[in-house]
Amino acid sequence: MGHIRSPLDHPVGGGGTGGRRPDRTVVILGAGVAGLSAAYELERLGVPVEVLEGSRRLGGRIHTFRFGDDADAPFAELGAMRIAAGHSNALRYVAELGLAEELRSFHSLLADKNAYLRTAESYVRLRDAARQLITEIRDGLAHDGYHPETLMFGAWLTLVVDAIAPPDQRQDLRQDLRSRLLDHADHLNLAPFVRDGGSAFDLHGLFAAHPELREACRDPLRGFLDDILVETSTELFRLRGGMDQLVRRLARRIHGPIRRQHEVVGLEARPDEVVVQLRIDGRPAVRHCSEVLCTLPFSVLRGLRLTGFSDEKLRIINNVHYVPATKVALHCREAFWQREGINGGASSSGGRVRQTYYPPIDGDPAQGAVLLASYSVGEDAELLGRMSSAARYAAVLADLATMHPQLLRPGMVLNARSLAWGQFPWSRGGCSVHWGMDPSQAEEQRMLAQQPEGRLYFAGEHCSSRPAWIDGAIESALDAVSRIVMHVPATLPEMPEEPAPAELAG
Ligand SMILES: Cc1cc2nc3c(=O)[nH]c(=O)nc-3n(C[C@H](O)[C@H](O)[C@H](O)COP(=O)(O)OP(=O)(O)OC[C@H]3O[C@@H](n4cnc5c(N)ncnc54)[C@H](O)[C@@H]3O)c2cc1C
Repeated sequence: MGHIRSPLDHPVGGGGTGGRRPDRTVVILGAGVAGLSAAYELERLGVPVEVLEGSRRLGGRIHTFRFGDDADAPFAELGAMRIAAGHSNALRYVAELGLAEELRSFHSLLADKNAYLRTAESYVRLRDAARQLITEIRDGLAHDGYHPETLMFGAWLTLVVDAIAPPDQRQDLRQDLRSRLLDHADHLNLAPFVRDGGSAFDLHGLFAAHPELREACRDPLRGFLDDILVETSTELFRLRGGMDQLVRRLARRIHGPIRRQHEVVGLEARPDEVVVQLRIDGRPAVRHCSEVLCTLPFSVLRGLRLTGFSDEKLRIINNVHYVPATKVALHCREAFWQREGINGGASSSGGRVRQTYYPPIDGDPAQGAVLLASYSVGEDAELLGRMSSAARYAAVLADLATMHPQLLRPGMVLNARSLAWGQFPWSRGGCSVHWGMDPSQAEEQRMLAQQPEGRLYFAGEHCSSRPAWIDGAIESALDAVSRIVMHVPATLPEMPEEPAPAELAG
């Protein structure tokens, strides 16, 4: 890698474009996993990069929060927490960054049968959930002639959708079950998918063997089903010690500067350059760049000053749908849930809490344990997100204490941390989603989202075929890098340094 010239941010009104040297540095906006992967890949191809990040932190929606300064302090994954076995881009990076030995199984909802399901009246252990759910499903059915395995399927699908999906989709599922899903399923031989003597059901096996069953679901539930099945799969991994290792290791491999607190406030796409308007330490600055890769979520981008963009591009920036997501983590004195026989997995906690995860302790147990008390998406997340953080903790604690009264013991909860991604200024949404789209519409959205605007390129999970996943963010970065290197000659000799006096100030 040749010498990389340090950037020159010049103040508003100072210098214009005159005196600029031709510069082949690609300026990358956003230091989430998409921005950092793109920087890493571009440098590997000999293209100099500079990364501008608005916040004080790298990693974006990969956000491991540590309750303490020690490296082995208990931590909460406030953003991404698992990687699916089929997510080859993410797993390739894990291996390449020397993290393969830190991969551990991630235990999701349904993994620990001692975890709980909230029912209309109370809570039951997941191992007893089927009986309870079948009774509830039966109440709303037109007839009682279904095979027991069919009701078991309905019960298990209701369980996972209730835990994970936003409220409207929970409603859709109940209607779909009653109107056609159970009828479809009743014609299939479901016996091979019943597990544990009738107390569990292999939804993944069934949907894999009978993809036509998915078609019997209405949108947007149909689109969401894939995510639900991945989220409850047994083939998930976590990184022992925290997902942020992925980001930190990537950042360490990047030679070009990564500048924090460089907030993008406007972008102008011109035929021969991109003008980036910035706020650096509260002061405005303007940067004229020959090539820019923007990885800011469209939910953020749509609030910035955008000029020189085509109507089509503005439309897609404004229209990509984001769902909010909120996580609330509690640092507890001890992993009290283990005394109740819960050693991982998650409870379907209902109410505003939705899902409660019991992460393993990677460090010294004497430092306590973290309970991911609440993980919600959609309206539930929005509701919690709009509260002050104090009100949010109080609401989650009040809901969850009926299931885990130990939380109310004096000194049990040492600390709390939450993140409402829908309200977070650096994301303004949890993730983009393709729910309600058929595959061709999703592909069209991906192409439009990726489409460069002159010398301004785009990447980020919202520009991928796998939105809402790290894997998609990396996929989009690789796509953008391929486009960029077609236009930026990677093997050009380094340009001689040229003084640009008008641009030096600031
Ligand atoms: C609650 C939650 C749970 C998730 N769980 C999983 C999971 O288990 N597994 C999984 O694979 N994926 C998961 N995801 C999705 C995954 O985290 C994202 O798909 C991925 O991290 C997105 O990366 P990105 O680089 O596209 O965007 P981001 O990570 O959002 O990166 C964008 C960057 O741009 C910066 N930025 C924003 N505005 C500006 C501005 N004006 N100026 C300069 N910089 C700016 C941001 O600070 C950020 O660093 C989850 C996401 C959430 C929210």
